[in-house]
Amino acid sequence: MTGPKKLRLILGDQLHSGHSWYQKTDSSCLYVMMEIRSETDYVRHHIQKVLGFFAAMRRFAAGLENQGHVLYYLKLDNPENLQSFDANLRSILEKFPSIQEWEYQEPDEYRLDVLLKEFSASAGILCRVCDSEHFYTSRNSLREMFGDKVPRMEFFYRNLRKKHNIMMDGSEPLNGRWNYDADNRKKIPSSVSIPKPLLFSNNLSDLKSVLDGEEISTLGNVNADEFSWPIDREQALKLLDFFIQNLLPLFGTYEDAMSLRSWSLFHSRLSFALNLKMLHPDEVLQAAIRAMDERPEEISCNQLEGFVRQILGWREFVRGIYWREMPGYTEKNFLNHNRSLPDWFWTGNTRMNCMKNSINQTMEHAYAHHIQRLMVIGNFSLLAGLHPDEVDQWYLGVYIDAIEWVEMPNTRGMSQFADGGLIASKPYVSSAAYIDKMSDYCGSCFYSSKEKTGKKACPFNSLYWHFFDRHQDKLKRNPRIGMAYQVWEKMDAEKRQAILQQAEIYLNQLDSL
Ligand SMILES: Cc1cc2nc3c(=O)[nH]c(=O)nc-3n(C[C@H](O)[C@H](O)[C@H](O)COP(=O)(O)OP(=O)(O)OC[C@H]3O[C@@H](n4cnc5c(N)ncnc54)[C@H](O)[C@@H]3O)c2cc1C
Ligand code: SF4
Repeated sequence: MTGPKKLRLILGDQLHSGHSWYQKTDSSCLYVMMEIRSETDYVRHHIQKVLGFFAAMRRFAAGLENQGHVLYYLKLDNPENLQSFDANLRSILEKFPSIQEWEYQEPDEYRLDVLLKEFSASAGILCRVCDSEHFYTSRNSLREMFGDKVPRMEFFYRNLRKKHNIMMDGSEPLNGRWNYDADNRKKIPSSVSIPKPLLFSNNLSDLKSVLDGEEISTLGNVNADEFSWPIDREQALKLLDFFIQNLLPLFGTYEDAMSLRSWSLFHSRLSFALNLKMLHPDEVLQAAIRAMDERPEEISCNQLEGFVRQILGWREFVRGIYWREMPGYTEKNFLNHNRSLPDWFWTGNTRMNCMKNSINQTMEHAYAHHIQRLMVIGNFSLLAGLHPDEVDQWYLGVYIDAIEWVEMPNTRGMSQFADGGLIASKPYVSSAAYIDKMSDYCGSCFYSSKEKTGKKACPFNSLYWHFFDRHQDKLKRNPRIGMAYQVWEKMDAEKRQAILQQAEIYLNQLDSL
């Protein structure tokens, strides 16, 4: 009997059933997938993230086997599992000496890129690296478009709209406008009803027992009998359809809103399915574009453009930043922030209603939407001067969609300004006024959104001015921030002093906020 001749490695976030690898079956090709400790342990992940990845990998493997592909799947508790890519690959090559070549798809994480290159160099067989056939752009897209200059998302995004003919009318944007930000981003009035999110009911209790048995350290909550995230392409397509039917009509209008009434509002919750490549970004965008063509009275241009901007613009742009800036990006700390995360980041046990709700829903669902991540949790972290390494680790662990290539530029760059303005041209910070404008959090908060000093003063207010005051040397010359410094300098000296003192009190007792 002859053994396999070729090995193809499939990583846990490469569940792309439309990839050209799978167009033909070949009994001499052995597909390898593995659940390993090096992936469960590089950061403490949310339990839903670990369950979601492994469950989706198992479904994907079963699908390939049904199509006639040959699989070698190492489960976490398989005694033959040596728990790292390198050790497992070596042992598989020993077990199947007939293998003469191996292939892998470009990984999206830098650490895996290095690891697989190192393995290739020492494996002693032919190696071929393939495209993952998932993104619109290549890893080098920013370098090609901007060279060493500071990249700008708007320019990048417009280029991609033209190149891929998305929402275009010849060489002009559809309806003559590139950007609908001014029409979008409204607070949700109580009269607007918010659809309940589509949740699946996957029974993952057996998988959960395996994780418990192997003593994988995780965080957050789960009902493993009714796991709610999509774990295969069929479910991912249902979630996409649900979004298109029910949420897209108001997506843009309320994309920046926050509400105690709903944890996901009009957001798609597609990031997990997209990042594992169960969905292709182009099929998602084409479905949204088709929906606007078919239901123009229901889905206006601003809703669609808001969505296209996130997927074609931001998602591809942050990936470009990651690959242009790695490996140095992991160490960026432009503002030299060094405070530790307060304990309540893990429990939600704080009197700040916005933080409490955003953290609680994160622990409950492994999800918070963009504005909660950016303008509540990220905003507080930046104002309080938390160390970007710790903030990064937190975000990488807690969200179901968190994979370093997309998590790190968003966290370290966009939200913590640790890259000094590569992604964001100014720090995303605000006082309570913004949170109050965009949410219903402040009304029932222990703190008062209007007060800057005193026991009930909202911490965001004094920390906001403390942030600008302490970073004058680095920020004052930024033309986009000049206004804040003018307001600060016009305030009388006594008031400024009182605000700074209040901020110091809060900074000295972050744990008891
Ligand atoms: C501090 C911080 C950390 C983040 N960490 C992650 C992360 O680990 N993984 C992740 O996928 N996204 C991350 N984001 C981006 C964004 O918040 C999530 O993609 C989004 O909240 C996912 O929910 P959704 O699918 O409902 O998105 P929707 O609001 O429905 O948006 C549609 C899609 O657009 C894409 N998208 C939107 N904004 C961004 C963005 N800024 N960067 C990349 N893609 C975007 C996502 O694929 C998303 O599914 C982070 C943002 C911030 C501010
Ligand atoms: S008052 Fe301040 S802490 Fe409370 S919800 Fe509003 S912004 Fe958050």
